[in-house]
Amino acid sequence: MKHYHHFEEYNIEVTDDIKQKYADIITNIGEDTSREGIVKTPERAAKAMQFLTSGHCQDPAAILKKAMFAEDYNDMVIIKDIELYSLCEHHILPFFGKAHIAYIPDGHIVGLSKIPRVVDVFARRLQVQERLTHDILECINDTLKPKGVAVVIEASHMCMMMRGVQKQNSVTTTSGFRGQFEKIETRNEFLKLISSNLS
Ligand SMILES: [Zn+2]
Repeated sequence: MKHYHHFEEYNIEVTDDIKQKYADIITNIGEDTSREGIVKTPERAAKAMQFLTSGHCQDPAAILKKAMFAEDYNDMVIIKDIELYSLCEHHILPFFGKAHIAYIPDGHIVGLSKIPRVVDVFARRLQVQERLTHDILECINDTLKPKGVAVVIEASHMCMMMRGVQKQNSVTTTSGFRGQFEKIETRNEFLKLISSNLS
């Protein structure tokens, strides 16, 4: 596993290789790579792609483990409206939206800023929304070992909005629940608390 700021130190060989391939793609779609506005695009795109997929070489469990604290708090902790940007693995086009996450501690809490970081690490990979939801859920469940964890993601997919069925306003919602959130009353309490955000 590489260190977290891997994406800020672009590997020169990898960047050159991706850059060359982007130049080929740009040529293949009928553009001129020597045109002023585009001349540096292959390199910019190569760096952007590496940043957007930098989660592949980061360990989200390590992020949580570093910020876990023993604490006797037994109520639901909810982090709403976590901005989320990912790439669909079928078209390499963005999907983006919000994640709402809750857990019920069992002896340990985690620094609140770490939950959005876990979302980022899993989102900065080639993903499908269903697996992203599951990855976040299982990571929190396995690492923090809470009494329960819940994840709801609502996202818009550019591959649906810009191409294909062109459903401009459709939002896909996925959810996963473990432990106490598998009980209907607990799950409903969580859904009610985040419901102002669900359309
Ligand atoms: Zn897609």
